[in-house]
Amino acid sequence: MNLDGQIALVTGASRGIGKRIAEALAEQGATVVGTARNTDPVHSWKTDSAVSERIIPLALDVTSRASCESVVEQVVNDHGSLGILVNNAGITRDGLLMSMEDDDFDAVINTNLRGAFWMMRFAARHMVRARKGRMINISSLTGVMGNPGQSNYAAAKGGLNAMTKSVAKELGKRGVTCNAIAPGFIETDMTDALPDSLKDNIRKVVPLQRFGTVDEVASLTCYLASPQAGYITGQVIEIDGGLHM
Ligand code: NDP
Repeated sequence: MNLDGQIALVTGASRGIGKRIAEALAEQGATVVGTARNTDPVHSWKTDSAVSERIIPLALDVTSRASCESVVEQVVNDHGSLGILVNNAGITRDGLLMSMEDDDFDAVINTNLRGAFWMMRFAARHMVRARKGRMINISSLTGVMGNPGQSNYAAAKGGLNAMTKSVAKELGKRGVTCNAIAPGFIETDMTDALPDSLKDNIRKVVPLQRFGTVDEVASLTCYLASPQAGYITGQVIEIDGGLHM
């Protein structure tokens, strides 16, 4: 998967899945702009990375339209193009339907869905002009199956899956692919917060009997970003140890 000379932008690159995706894309040869609201963790993890020189931290809050637009423009101005966009930034604010705070609903939709919309819209300007590009949205199995206590998160991720297909249909003729990755349970801070008893129960119902790793999600992302995946678009690819089949 040779990504030499490619310019990639990854949202939510300070930790977890986004951090590993940013590093893996750089390992394949891409120059990677790794973004988060707080970029201190990106600066610190990149110093330990063998591909440190190809990782550029940049502050971005995906809930701000102006921030999304200016970061995309800055990447293109500084590096001459934007070939790969990975919308990974995401949050959870779980709560049952009847007690969920409106602010928690809005925060999850604004971060996980509208942020990805803005990033794709601003990146599309440049990808369409270049007649090539890869958009990869990190969704969730919850967006496919639903999950109690996550109606906000399921709506955002389900919306992201549907938006992925629409964007793929719009931009296919311009050489731009758009796919979503829907992870099941992956070992990160987000799932570390779950009670141990719940984690044990999850392992029992996953056919592969374990949580996935950030490496496994990053490998799939690199593949979708690569020339080898040139005929794949509009897909929601589940990476879940067989949880949903
Ligand atoms: P983490 O909570 O570990 O990391 C989330 C990242 O998103 C951080 O880098 C955070 O940085 C960034 N972020 C949060 N809010 C914003 C914002 N408003 N603007 C910009 N960046 C933001 O999450 P994971 O690594 O676990 O998850 C990554 C993605 O994968 C998410 O979209 C999540 O929904 C999805 N996913 C994860 C699963 C799992 O099992 N872990 C399963 C299914 C899907 P900062 O706070 O500094 O901005």
